[in-house]
Amino acid sequence: MLTGLHIAVIGGDARQLEVIKKLTELDAKLSLIGFDQLDHNFTGASKDQIDEVDFSTIDAIILPASGANSEGEVDTIFSNETVVFTEELVTKTPEHCTIYSGISNQYIDDIIKSTNRKLVKLFERDDVAIYNSIPTVEGTIMMAIQHTEITIHNSKVAVLGLGRVGFSVARAFDALGANVKVGARKSEHLARVFEMGMKPFHLSKLEDEVANIDVCINTIPHHIVTASVISKMPPNTLIIDLASKPGGTDFRYAEKRGIKALLAPGLPGVVAPKTAGQIVANVMAQLLREDLLNRKGN
Ligand code: NAP
Repeated sequence: MLTGLHIAVIGGDARQLEVIKKLTELDAKLSLIGFDQLDHNFTGASKDQIDEVDFSTIDAIILPASGANSEGEVDTIFSNETVVFTEELVTKTPEHCTIYSGISNQYIDDIIKSTNRKLVKLFERDDVAIYNSIPTVEGTIMMAIQHTEITIHNSKVAVLGLGRVGFSVARAFDALGANVKVGARKSEHLARVFEMGMKPFHLSKLEDEVANIDVCINTIPHHIVTASVISKMPPNTLIIDLASKPGGTDFRYAEKRGIKALLAPGLPGVVAPKTAGQIVANVMAQLLREDLLNRKGN
């Protein structure tokens, strides 16, 4: 249980509702900022304006998946008011207050540094990234079905990168009967691809390897699907770029060549906001419980 914890939830989308639901079920007291237009009420949670909250009693602040922008503004789809996450606000919190955010940026990092608080970047955690790869894969399959005229079964698919997303994508397309090859740069990744029964290739050979594919799925957050790589692809190739913005594809050149290239960010929130919210909610609950136990132990 999270009895006794006072948590400020600042902004967010439908995913954050799952976090609120879970934390109130666990008996935490929540101050919801940026939720004034949300119809639903949660027992144990109050909808507040940011200046109504006594931050000296706040044990944790939860920012949305996107964190805050470079001016500190937080996405609030359940409010028309602008909500700004500031250093002044964090300074008022007790020293043990932890900030949880999907991702961070220079603005948030600077506040964390100057206030000496702990920041947890949820989407960098292996557990969250691996759980999130599940709805990401489902969204990728959806896009492949929507944007090709062939079945995934028996299609030729190149997956770039064998990280947390690449691994799940390659395995799912293989299980659907695609002929999957995976490009990576580490010999252990190439060995793992071979072990999984797919075709490994080194990324230095990318140009040769794309010459006969139907779909290229990039998970590498680096400019890897260059103009010169795209120039070797068959004209009807579909590129699905899953890497975080701006992706790893030369979209300008793809368009010029008439190759369909789609940047597909945030698929978990698009195809399965409830599951995506539950993934974050479960990990949040576990981290808050650990935090509480650690403080009680000290
Ligand atoms: P990850 O576990 O860190 O994997 C990244 C992969 O990229 C690794 O295989 C890594 O190989 C490779 N890589 C990185 N830089 C490289 C470079 N310069 N050259 C060659 N290979 C390189 O990350 P992840 O969790 O799989 O996420 C991958 C991307 O998808 C991220 O940008 C993430 O934000 C994004 N993402 C998107 C969605 C969506 O809905 N579209 C959902 C979740 C995640 P090494 O091990 O050799 O470095």
